[in-house]
Amino acid sequence: MLKCLFVSTEVAPYAKTGGLADVAGALPKELRAQGVDVRIAMPYYGSMQGRFFDDSAQEPINFDVFLGWKQHPVSVFYDDKIVPTYFFKNDHFYYRGGLYGYDDDYERFAFFCKAVLDSIQHIGFIPDIIHCNDWQTGPICLLLKDKYKWDKRYENIRSIFTIHNMKFQGLFGDYALDTLGLGSEYKAADKIEFNGGISFLKAGLVYADFVTTVSPSYVEELKTWEYGCGLDGLLRDTVATRMVGILNGIDTEKYDPSDDPFIYETYDVDHLWNKEKNKLEFQKEFGLKQNSRSMMIGIISRITDQKGFDLMKQTIDGRWFLDKLMDLNVQFVLLGTGEYEYENMFKHFSYVYGDRARVFLDFNEELAQKIYAACDVFLMPSAFEPCGLGQLIAMRYGTVPIVRKTGGLKDTVIHYNYQTKEGTGFEFEEYSGYWLYQKIKEAYDCYNYDHEDFKQIMKNGMEKSYGWNESAKKYINLYKSVLEISALWNQANLDVSNIWKECAEKIYKVKVDLGNYINNNK
Ligand code: ADP
Repeated sequence: MLKCLFVSTEVAPYAKTGGLADVAGALPKELRAQGVDVRIAMPYYGSMQGRFFDDSAQEPINFDVFLGWKQHPVSVFYDDKIVPTYFFKNDHFYYRGGLYGYDDDYERFAFFCKAVLDSIQHIGFIPDIIHCNDWQTGPICLLLKDKYKWDKRYENIRSIFTIHNMKFQGLFGDYALDTLGLGSEYKAADKIEFNGGISFLKAGLVYADFVTTVSPSYVEELKTWEYGCGLDGLLRDTVATRMVGILNGIDTEKYDPSDDPFIYETYDVDHLWNKEKNKLEFQKEFGLKQNSRSMMIGIISRITDQKGFDLMKQTIDGRWFLDKLMDLNVQFVLLGTGEYEYENMFKHFSYVYGDRARVFLDFNEELAQKIYAACDVFLMPSAFEPCGLGQLIAMRYGTVPIVRKTGGLKDTVIHYNYQTKEGTGFEFEEYSGYWLYQKIKEAYDCYNYDHEDFKQIMKNGMEKSYGWNESAKKYINLYKSVLEISALWNQANLDVSNIWKECAEKIYKVKVDLGNYINNNK
């Protein structure tokens, strides 16, 4: 049986700040269903303690981890209620208010990487594949190849590295080398040096046996200057031949409007009228004017430039975007946290528009599910989007997405065609407030004047499949191919330089033979 250790610093339902947690919560479940012995490794954050399992009833596996010359203890807990998961506990590193954003993040995640690798000697699970996710886990690929390979237990383990967002690079000073136990020779362009510093993300890209990202369009975008965040050259060059895009799915059990405990009224594609009850109840609970015909616009997102919030600062026809938007008969609901400037902008906005706009500056999954169910349209005007899960969840709830045509949004939302009645949402290409407004207006006109078409878009979205079935198959094929290739490699006992030597020898031999032949037949 194929064995995989899936390593992520956030996993739903244990800890979540965004889409990575959704992926790490759902993909391993599907891999298991398809016969892979997959286990998850994640940090044991303070916020999780006492919530998911009784750790006082467990005898954890304890050992020490070396970061350079410093020694830190770790206790590994285990739970298999959803997918067998190892939780790496060290309160000095993980008992904090949040998951990321601390000055010692390089140390917190270097510790996690080393603890995960060391744990293989202790937990009795030697995987075939270690599947790493995002910069926090990049050093695993490097350490496995350069520091652990001499040990028989690690010799045949291969690594996969998945980029969920290229913008987050884990860029630190030279001190990070000491922490990882690496010499200064690693600060080189073909290793992990980047912009004068040390990049954890680059460690994943350069040293993984295979690199994946979360949508086919994002793979191509990453190779361009606009999207590559300074690493596009590397991706076009040495990484290009070992990188693919595999589209994310969502957990269709968790996000299921016909069986969602958090929404006011469950519904499915044949009982769409119950969706409207969600809107009316939501309006009542949160002090919005109850009106079933006022198009409700929703956003659930990190509030950052990446997600297109700067477009909402712009002016259209001399008026502030949000003022112009509210001239229409719409209501507006935002759930998110993020950059101070935008949070302030939305506080002001909700104050001005009283009973037509609600802004929740919070992270709240129950409320998110209520909003997905209550709204008519969902905005995702991202500047770039590796895959995006918000639009998938929205479509599953019959909430029509309005998105910018980029990355995974381009791969998952199809612009509605009034002639063929195909399509699941509205798309615009040029990154501007003007075009975002035009698309909202197009959706608004459709909602108000073409009821049948709007219903058709809702249905088309709900009827599509967003599960992990197909993508999990692709990951399994990838795991198998990587293992097969490296087995052949080992069998031939070759490395790259030997292959070139062999080729050169063969070419030389052919030349000599040919020379002899010509000479003998003169
Ligand atoms: P990201 O770039 O943040 O990973 P995605 O669209 O891929 O964006 O995934 C975001 C996930 O996080 C979705 O499941 C979305 O519903 C959820 N989410 C985002 N912000 C919030 C919030 N404030 N409260 C609850 N869930 C949120």
